[in-house]
Amino acid sequence: MRRKLAAGNWKMNGTSAELERLATLAQNHGAAKSEVLICPPATLLSRAADTVAGSAIAVGGQDCHAEVSGAHTGDVSAQMLKDAGAEFVIIGHSERREDHGESDEDVRNKARAALDAGLVAVICVGESLGEREAANTLDIIGGQLAGSIPDGVTGHTLVIAYEPIWAIGTGKVPTTDQIGEVHDFIRARLERRFGAGVGRSVRILYGGSVKPGNATEIFAVSNVDGALVGGASLKPEDFGPIIDALDASAD
Ligand code: PEP
Repeated sequence: MRRKLAAGNWKMNGTSAELERLATLAQNHGAAKSEVLICPPATLLSRAADTVAGSAIAVGGQDCHAEVSGAHTGDVSAQMLKDAGAEFVIIGHSERREDHGESDEDVRNKARAALDAGLVAVICVGESLGEREAANTLDIIGGQLAGSIPDGVTGHTLVIAYEPIWAIGTGKVPTTDQIGEVHDFIRARLERRFGAGVGRSVRILYGGSVKPGNATEIFAVSNVDGALVGGASLKPEDFGPIIDALDASAD
């Protein structure tokens, strides 16, 4: 049985004042049936970990460098995230692939570093609108999976997030058939590469404009094991009902 996962990506949002929102979330959803993860900016990670201590909420990073340490001004290593209290790290988010030119190989090297540091790697894949319209979605996702996932992963060390780029922050959401098609495809690829045992144990999240109003429908889709949520994870009054919907989908 794969435990459901509700993951929040705060992106470049949040200063000390927003820790109060995390405290509210921990108070109201700190014992959720689903696993709950918040990935705040790196500047808040350590205090976020303190804020959720004693609850079942985990914190994670939004990116890491592929190396342990060195002359990489402005970067943060997986070990540093771990030291700050992270249990997970998002890798290969489309905003990093786009803004920082990260290739599948970069993503794979970062994921390797995350695993070596004892973090769970949440590897993001997703197609652009042009790629979907050209009916290339599955080819693109297949290539990203093959190139971005390191060898030797397990259901305890890897989570995949399917995030169509055109759905992120836009309010546009694929149909449930479209989500199901991609999630089933990802599951089949994981099973083919890592074997049925590991392939079936890796959680596959959907991400892209998940809101309280569409969460239940999305969580009913086959092979959707939770969500990676951007905007709606910033407010407990939005993220809370998404966690509740995920809990209900596990019943
Ligand atoms: C994301 O940033 O990963 C994301 C899915 O954002 P949003 O929920 O705001 O679309």
